[in-house]
Amino acid sequence: ELPTINSDFYELHLRLTPEQKEIQQRVRNFMENEVKPIVNNYWLHDEFPFELIPKFRELNLCGITYEGYGCPNLPFLMEGVVAMEIARVDASLATFFGVQSGLAMGSIYICGSGEQKAKWLPQMQKFEKIGAFGLTEPDVGSGAAGGLTTTCKKTENGWILNGQKKWIGNATFADVLIIWARDLDDNQVKGFIVEKDTPGFSVEKIKGKMALRIVQNGLITLTDCLVKDENKLANANSFKDTAKVLQMTRAGVAWMAVGCGRGAYESALDYTRKRKQFGKPIASYQLIQGHLVEMLSNLTAMQTMVFRLSELQDTGLLKDEHASIAKVFCTLRTRDIVSQAREVMGGNGILLEYDVARFVADAEAIYSYEGTKEINSLIVGRAITGFSAFV
Ligand code: FAD
Repeated sequence: ELPTINSDFYELHLRLTPEQKEIQQRVRNFMENEVKPIVNNYWLHDEFPFELIPKFRELNLCGITYEGYGCPNLPFLMEGVVAMEIARVDASLATFFGVQSGLAMGSIYICGSGEQKAKWLPQMQKFEKIGAFGLTEPDVGSGAAGGLTTTCKKTENGWILNGQKKWIGNATFADVLIIWARDLDDNQVKGFIVEKDTPGFSVEKIKGKMALRIVQNGLITLTDCLVKDENKLANANSFKDTAKVLQMTRAGVAWMAVGCGRGAYESALDYTRKRKQFGKPIASYQLIQGHLVEMLSNLTAMQTMVFRLSELQDTGLLKDEHASIAKVFCTLRTRDIVSQAREVMGGNGILLEYDVARFVADAEAIYSYEGTKEINSLIVGRAITGFSAFV
């Protein structure tokens, strides 16, 4: 009998409490039973599986670390474990969940007033309102900290927003969109809760993506879009506030990369034990075992890293550079893992029905969003050398 496939080689799950393990298992069952059978078809057709939203609600894990507003108030470790488990089956849905629970709700949780939190967070926790997070622009990606061209201007009736936002996940169907814009008066970045039916707001789906095809990314245009005063995020008054949200969610992306790598490794190991060439399973050949061991070594290092990263977050010790180094390392290693997974599967490695092809494509997007390898490296570089090399 063959050994059980286990991509948690150092048994890091032993660090979880019985309740935390139960949550991990619940997410795994949901992803295996309800999501895995349908996900490739949605990916192929570039569509979002709205049928899953009530099931995500039933899991009751949205806004996982927040206190109050119907949120579970669990440690950051569990935010990571949940992101990993979702991404182990599908990175697009992990992104959907991360935008809703992390970027959009997190902006309101970190930067909102008491009234704003009480109004939006309970509805978003239950997925009654879907959120999006609009920072990137057509001409401003990595340089968002100093370069946003979307503007806001205070008037008698509220704030007028003008500009465009590109790549915004969930934007085509989101009810509430967090929009970051530069104040024409004090030149600081402010955050706004823009409701989808606000006059002057429009969104167009970005078509033709070769990665994360289930995520519905939008190009948003704001034309004299008038946002009520009550929808200006009360405590988002400079890019430092935006960065607080990004620091929190960046750790989650490192965990997602681990999930993506685990999914690909498990598929590849299973395949190589079943696939026979020259009369024997290909897993019995030394060169194939070399690939599998390299994949598992990377995965083991990545998992050890993100467990510690979450410990830092849970004890209030997390710094930007901690999240950035994990985001760089894990997304880079995952690119390698998915590529080796594809390789050991031969031609079937590029067929969608074997799952790994989707992981290969999706790993490319995770690698670039929430700060590219270069930008996150510069954050770490600045911290360790004392020199900023951004400009
Ligand atoms: P650019 O900034 O143009 O970078 C191009 C290359 O130049 C990269 O390799 C970069 O590292 C490098 N580079 C740039 N500056 C430097 C420098 N100083 N030194 C060295 N190298 C440098 N954004 C949102 O706001 N909300 C979302 O929901 C969202 N979802 C996304 C989903 C997907 C699938 C993707 C692909 C992107 C998403 N983004 C989102 C945008 C994402 O955050 C940006 O793509 C990312 O920040 C990189 O910006 P860019 O694509 O404009 O690349």
